[in-house]
Parts: sequence; C-alpha cells; structure tokens
Amino acid sequence: MPTTTRHKKLIIAIDGPAGSGKSSTAKALAIKLRLPYVDSGAMYRAVTLKAMQQGISFHKNFHDNKKLIRIAKSCRIRLTTSPKGAQKVFLDGKNVSEAIREPALTQNVHYIAQEPLIRREMVRKQQAMGKKDGAVMEGRDIGTVVFPKADYKFYFEAHSDVRAKRRHRDLAGAGMKMPINRVLEDIKFRDKTDYDRKEGPLKRAKDAILIDTSLLTIDQTVDKILQFIKR
Ligand code: C5P
Repeated sequence: MPTTTRHKKLIIAIDGPAGSGKSSTAKALAIKLRLPYVDSGAMYRAVTLKAMQQGISFHKNFHDNKKLIRIAKSCRIRLTTSPKGAQKVFLDGKNVSEAIREPALTQNVHYIAQEPLIRREMVRKQQAMGKKDGAVMEGRDIGTVVFPKADYKFYFEAHSDVRAKRRHRDLAGAGMKMPINRVLEDIKFRDKTDYDRKEGPLKRAKDAILIDTSLLTIDQTVDKILQFIKR
C-alpha cells in the first residue's frame, strides 16, 4: 500500500508498560499510515489534572466515585496531532500538553486509572474516537477492552532499566530533571499498579503480537509492525 493511501477505519492497538516505546512508535506509524494517533494515557492524565485542579485529595482509600465520575464525564478532552506528529492535548479547551506530564501528576494517575466508572467513561470516549476514522491507539487496555476486535494488536515489552533510561531522557528533554533511580522506582511502581488493577489491567491480549523493544530503535519497531500490516 502506498503511504499516501488512508486506511479507512483501520484500528491498530498498541499496549505495553511505561517506557516501552509505544508513543513514539504509534506516532510514527500513524503518520506512515495516515491514521489518527490516540494516546489514551493522555486522557487519564487529563482527568487527573482536572481532579487535582478541583482539589481532590488522592490517597489509597479515597473513593468519591460520584465526584470523580462527574469530573470524568464533564472533561472535554481533545487530542490533536500535527502532520509531523507533534501532539497537543486540550482539556476543556485549554492546552494542557505540558501540565499533564508533570511528575507530581504522573504519581496520581493510578488513582484515577483504577476507578472502574472512570475507565468505562474513557473507554467509551476512545471507542468513539476510533470508530470515527480508525486509529493507531496506544495504552494499557486497548487490545483487551477498548478494541478487542482491533485489526492489529501489538504488545510491547522492554527491560525496566531500558525503559527508565528512555523516560529519564524524555523528562530531561522536557526540562524536568530527575535522578535515574527515582525514574526507575517510578516505572516499577507504575508497572505494579497497572498490572494489579481489577478493571482494565495491563495485560497482553491473547492475539496480540509481542515485540520486545529493548534493543530496537523507533524506526526498527515501526518497520517490524509494518511487516504485519497487510498492504
Ligand atoms: O501512557 P502514559 O504513561 O502516559 O499513561 C499514564 C497512566 O495512565 C498510566 O500509568 C496508566 O496507569 C494509565 N493508563 C491506563 N489505561 C490506558 C492508558 C494509560 O490506565 N489505556
């Protein structure tokens, strides 16, 4: 297939843990295939931001479902991607692309991501996005819950040290300095909360193609995926 042809409504699901290379690969793939790119993690981050702005105090046993679901339902989340792959995230019309990447917010996302009612609301929004024009959608539960019948499913893995190094480099690039040990701890903590949650845990769908990205560049990963996409 020539790269200029748009795949109508093709859904490509990419799941995997933090730092496994999903975002960079999914963005590059979306450009090649001329499909919308959907970063589902940005949506959980945006809800977290709104909850923080509304003074929700997060702690282990905090469950104010009604308030949280009101927040999730009222969030107007818009994701845009430039032709070169730069992504912007808008929350209620405001550009929050940088604010949602703050380490303090990253530590709170798991509270939001473990709430079943919030997940169902996000899944509904993600399904609507994908059904409209197709998508390369990346996250934790895309191949298992959001689009169990996706045209193609991939599950990325990479050694935690490699993932920490990537995150460390990305954070530094965004002007956020953090010792590598802390980044590694953060990755391990997020892995645990992602694997352990009851609703929509991080899990490889049975029919997802496993790719270990530890030793692969983004271009190599994209090429690997393209070998599976029928032309
Ligand atoms: O992908 P990213 O690391 O930005 O995602 C932020 C957080 O959102 C993850 O740590 C994960 O807990 C949550 N998430 C999720 N389900 C998804 C995507 C992300 O629970 N589909």
